[in-house]
Amino acid sequence: MNETYLIDTHSHINMVENISTDEVIKNALSAGVKKIIVPASSTNDIDDVFELSQKYEDIYCYLGIHPEEAKDWDDGILNKIREYSASPKVVGIGEIGLDYYWDKSYVELQKEIFIKQIQLGNELNLPLNIHDREAHKDTFDILKEYNKNSKVIMHCFSGSPEFAIECIKEGWYIALGGVVTFKNAKKMKEVAKIVPLEKLLLETDAPYLTPTPHRGEENQPAYVRFTAEEISKIKEISLEELAKQTTLNAEKILNI
Ligand SMILES: [Zn+2]
Repeated sequence: MNETYLIDTHSHINMVENISTDEVIKNALSAGVKKIIVPASSTNDIDDVFELSQKYEDIYCYLGIHPEEAKDWDDGILNKIREYSASPKVVGIGEIGLDYYWDKSYVELQKEIFIKQIQLGNELNLPLNIHDREAHKDTFDILKEYNKNSKVIMHCFSGSPEFAIECIKEGWYIALGGVVTFKNAKKMKEVAKIVPLEKLLLETDAPYLTPTPHRGEENQPAYVRFTAEEISKIKEISLEELAKQTTLNAEKILNI
């Protein structure tokens, strides 16, 4: 009953290459990370991450298409997600959003499929796991205009403290990953400081964005612990307290 554990709320364990899924889960458990949510990003991923969620008790999934995969979109994806969402292991729509970092040539298409997926989340009453890379204003404006009833998680939040405050005012949640452990990540440390504990979630975005002291290696859910430790220091609270509240937040938002 009183066991404290962590949840990795965004982890592409289907993309981890150096260790098997069984090892990923074993390492996570020994680091006190009990539940893992795996987002889909491409059309192929949807089947893969759904299967993972069916196979492993403590793995859940978000289903959706990443903005960088927008060109592969077809409306049949909506029906597929509707069908899969009958499973309680499908806990959100994600990762969805806007990404202006690599290629801005299909921004309009990104926006169009972002909106369709927001509406799907609303229809299914599922939370939205949001990818926003260098697209803060458009992401915010579209969510504000189109999202009616879904809870919003800003995955791997990368905006300013001011933008975090704007998001929180909307009732959205801020998920922080390994970047907060980087020595020179002043902005993210400031975000960690100001986000109220009740609005905070933890994640790894594995296999990417590996936290210190494992930077340079492949990331895995077990390492969410380093992010939790860093944030607890920044917030001047115990790791126990941080773990308890962020886990409670995730369980409440995702209904797990
Ligand atoms: Zn991701």
